Amino acid sequence: MQIPFVDLKEQYQSLKPAIDAAIHQCLDTTSFVGGPLVATFEKAFASYLGVGHCIGCANGTDSLEIIMKALGIGAGDEVIVPACSWISTSETVTAVGAKVVFADILPEYYTIDPADIERKITARTKAIIPVHLYGLPASMPEIVEIANKNGIHVIEDCAQSHGAAVEGKMVGTFGIAASFSFYPGKNLGAYGDAGAMVTNDAQLARTLRMIANHGQEGKHNHQIEGRNSRLDSMQAAILSVKLPHLPEWTAKRQANAAYYEKALGTMVQTPKAPKGYSHVYHVYEIQVPNREEMISKLEQAGIQTAIHYPTPMPFMPAYAHYGHKRSDFPVAAAQMDRILSLPMYPELKPEQIDYVAEQIRKSLKA
Ligand SMILES: *Cc1c(COP(=O)(O)O)cnc(C)c1O
Repeated sequence: MQIPFVDLKEQYQSLKPAIDAAIHQCLDTTSFVGGPLVATFEKAFASYLGVGHCIGCANGTDSLEIIMKALGIGAGDEVIVPACSWISTSETVTAVGAKVVFADILPEYYTIDPADIERKITARTKAIIPVHLYGLPASMPEIVEIANKNGIHVIEDCAQSHGAAVEGKMVGTFGIAASFSFYPGKNLGAYGDAGAMVTNDAQLARTLRMIANHGQEGKHNHQIEGRNSRLDSMQAAILSVKLPHLPEWTAKRQANAAYYEKALGTMVQTPKAPKGYSHVYHVYEIQVPNREEMISKLEQAGIQTAIHYPTPMPFMPAYAHYGHKRSDFPVAAAQMDRILSLPMYPELKPEQIDYVAEQIRKSLKA
């Protein structure tokens, strides 16, 4: 049996007439950047999250950077980010001229450890960027409390967590602003690069929109210097077709995770979520004692796996100048050689999960 790590084909086939029509609508209007198709998606996504403003932009990396710019974060400031994430979370801090400060993660949940955030706060700390890694919300109630107590911003990185929630409150609504990516493989994915910023603060929304479009407020009215980070109309049209299906896709991911749990829960460490936290399983991460051997066994059996991510950011060559040691981030260090991501997508079938579980069992026994 061949099981790819991600399969975007089946989803496209299931929506082909609507997606193709949306693309043709865009071609017929010849409005390719911004315009009504973008405005329609922005409104729909804001309403899905229950947030006041959504501003489309070019990708999820830009959205983080633009949010920090708009909040005036720059040289001399520090921003706390988790040791484990995709590098966008930290590289954008450097891009605005601020200093990246890493905090360790929680052993069971892989998200940023609130206790380590508290230890890393200094007089220069301007913001915390919790990442809802793999689709599990970070410890938002605690993080918001720490931030409020210290007068610092919370910027949520929601690139992996569309629709995840804590006690029914959607991620993306906890901080001053939040960043989303619609990279094709994300839980809500475009057919190219795309991103969005959301906030309840009308003044901040205005600044975000200006920065993403050359500092303009209306045509040729350049209030500030900005940049070009706009959402393509075609991507927005595709996202508008897909968004209504997101709850059903999320439910399928959760059902697949529950099925994995039954099949694997007693064999390996499976993903966990605190009570009241809704995990949307962008990535299904397990921990195993024999990772390299298991990867090749699974590959021989036709099962693709991945590692998210092989190296925690503090240990990357890109941050060698910080001089971090493994002992500075003991939890991240202890897990980096054990984590393994299994195939996970809404269209995955129970028999495929059974097959993955069977091959894992064999590899553990060997
Ligand atoms: C994908 C991702 C991003 C960046 O999004 P792009 O749209 O690829 O720029 C940022 N943070 C995290 C955690 C991600 O997974």
